[in-house]
Amino acid sequence: MVEKITSSKQAIELENKYGAHNYHPLPVVLSKGEGALVWDVEGKQYYDFLSAYSAVNQGHCHPKIIGALKEQAETITLTSRAFYNDCLGSYEKYVTEYFGYDKVLPMNTGAEADETALKLARRWGVVKKGIPNDEVKIICCEGNFHGRTITIVSMSNDPDSYANYGPLTPGFIRIPYNDIAALEKALNEEGDKIAGFLVEPIQGEAGVYVPDNGYIKRAYDLCKAKNVLFIADEVQTGIARTGKMLACDHENVKPDVLILGKALSGGVLPVSAVLANDDIMLCIKPGEHGSTFGGFPLACKVAIAALEVVKEERLMEKADHLGIIFRKYMKDIKSDMISLVRGKGLLNAIIIKPKNGKEAWDVCLKMKELGVLAKPTHGDIIRFAPPLVITEEQLLDACKRIEQAILSF
Ligand SMILES: *Cc1c(COP(=O)(O)O)cnc(C)c1O
Repeated sequence: MVEKITSSKQAIELENKYGAHNYHPLPVVLSKGEGALVWDVEGKQYYDFLSAYSAVNQGHCHPKIIGALKEQAETITLTSRAFYNDCLGSYEKYVTEYFGYDKVLPMNTGAEADETALKLARRWGVVKKGIPNDEVKIICCEGNFHGRTITIVSMSNDPDSYANYGPLTPGFIRIPYNDIAALEKALNEEGDKIAGFLVEPIQGEAGVYVPDNGYIKRAYDLCKAKNVLFIADEVQTGIARTGKMLACDHENVKPDVLILGKALSGGVLPVSAVLANDDIMLCIKPGEHGSTFGGFPLACKVAIAALEVVKEERLMEKADHLGIIFRKYMKDIKSDMISLVRGKGLLNAIIIKPKNGKEAWDVCLKMKELGVLAKPTHGDIIRFAPPLVITEEQLLDACKRIEQAILSF
């Protein structure tokens, strides 16, 4: 029997009883969203300051994206790649021109796109760089988050992610993030065996960790000098979130391999992508990689609409402008609970110094009470990433509530 949900308490109990316990959500049960706003089962309204980890950059239920979804849903949804369909080619042309690459490889989730990029880099390493198969290495960074598959958690240094999931996938060299000397050393020592350097231009899950100015550019240049692919995971930072189309654009770096997900569909469907030029992408040949849903007609139409919205509504400019206002507001709050404010565009975080036993989690509960939803990451950090369609007036209203929550302790 399907139970009808009439209260938040009931919904939470059902999830606890019947769902795997692999998440620890804030106790709020959402049932509706529009733009930067969401409502719970009881009808209480909130500002969404998580945006589903930056998947909903274009705002909840954007009418243009939902329109594209509805229209295509009534036409054809899935063909598989065993046949051609009349949506994929147009999408591939649109997305490759949009980001400036020869080719795209469509997948669904961010983790799948990261996996795809790893396979692509390994393949390129063997076929083009001449690294013996089984000896190919990829450099990753401490504090990384690239998803949840076995291979991806093999790169992680967060025990929650990798512990007791062994045996892990070999072939990774992990270096400190934002440490050019460490990268240079790794490239000097094992450059011949290294196919790629996988990096988030800002580490989102690690707590919106912004590297020093120039890090991305210097890392890119070092990779070029050693014939190593510079692979950017922009699943969270991409698509206007940080005030540019890509976070790498802040340093005018064009990754050899670009990984996108999350906001590629405006949070409507799992749509991810790997972009690269022909010399890299054509290393994978028919039958050597794939996905039943990857590039399905529904995804193609939704992603085109989602990308159009970003340009039509000038979300990059909005993220840049509103981000400056947000950080200034947070920095001006007079509370010893805020030990640091950082971020770019509308991807920001504050670090909470516990006070009277109250921590980031308590601040989030208080903010929830006051109508703003955000979630702690890594204990003491709260990420603030509202949909980019949020108006300045809404943002300031939300800032007031955040301030009120912090000052309440
Ligand atoms: C969310 C995220 C992923 C994983 O995406 P999923 O769709 O959850 O698999 C990968 N990389 C980064 C940087 C992310 O933020």
